[in-house]
Amino acid sequence: VIQVCLPLNALGFVYREAKDALVNAEKLFQLLREKPEIEESPSLPALRVAAGEVVFDNVSFGYEPGRTILHDVSFRIAPGTTVAVVGGSGSGKSTLARLLLRFYDVGGGRISVDGQDIRGVSTRSLREAIGVVPQETLLFNDTIAYNIGYGRAGATMEDIVAAAKAAHIHELIDSLPQKYETPVGERGVKMSGGEKQRIALARAILKNPPLLIFDEATSALDSHSERAIQAELDQLSQNRTALVIAHRLSTVVNANEILVFERGRIIERGTHAALLERGGPYASLWQMQLNGEENADPPRAAHLA
Ligand code: ADP
Ligand code: MG
Repeated sequence: VIQVCLPLNALGFVYREAKDALVNAEKLFQLLREKPEIEESPSLPALRVAAGEVVFDNVSFGYEPGRTILHDVSFRIAPGTTVAVVGGSGSGKSTLARLLLRFYDVGGGRISVDGQDIRGVSTRSLREAIGVVPQETLLFNDTIAYNIGYGRAGATMEDIVAAAKAAHIHELIDSLPQKYETPVGERGVKMSGGEKQRIALARAILKNPPLLIFDEATSALDSHSERAIQAELDQLSQNRTALVIAHRLSTVVNANEILVFERGRIIERGTHAALLERGGPYASLWQMQLNGEENADPPRAAHLA
């Protein structure tokens, strides 16, 4: 589960909402669960985002000793471009996102943003620069407005509604008796996976960050809503540096580079056209998904889930 949590932001919120200590204790607890497993010196400078270049340089990583999850992964996302990652479940795709957000530190190699090793800048500034639409969104036990506005400190209600409209979730929110003040999360209105993904998208739109991570950002949507949301994702990633983890290959066709992952290694890479031409693993995945699309909904290859 990836969640861009900015403890400082949230503490600011806790302060503003100090009237309800119980709820706030809960919020803090939620944040602590998300606490990154890294050590950080309090004196690190803030990340300075210029053009927005992301480089993974020979990155190796394992969650536990003796089990390497990523092996020597190298790629560069040029400023304003998109690199897409495809591959089977468990191949290490989401791990790339967790490392870029610095929930964990690399075991070997380095990750840098605009030439700065991410271990040398404050994680707060790093995460402020990245908008994430994760595979699975955790909502705070708070209102819908808070959950969207969390993307940007000082967001107005107008900003929040505009973001919700762009993420195709405004109509649903507007139909609820308490509208944007509706509580969600564990004790509030239950939202489906697809609705939560749209909340996360609204949050990212509002945040307006230079860097984006989409981790199977439309996986919980049916294929009709997926197409609508995909258009918004495409628009959001226009002229931004984006790491797009895809479960449907149709979403990666326009990526500047596609990385095909298998067991933590890049086994193939190139543009969609070049990879089809090559007739390797990507081309077979593509063929399988095309076949699936003719009859099934949602149309996706089982092992890409
Ligand atoms: P993908 O996103 O491609 O499905 P992940 O990057 O989530 O794959 O996971 C890659 C591998 O790392 C899997 O084998 C998974 O079980 C393992 N893994 C993921 N998270 C953890 C964790 N917190 N602790 C230990 N192993 C993990
Ligand atoms: Mg994943």
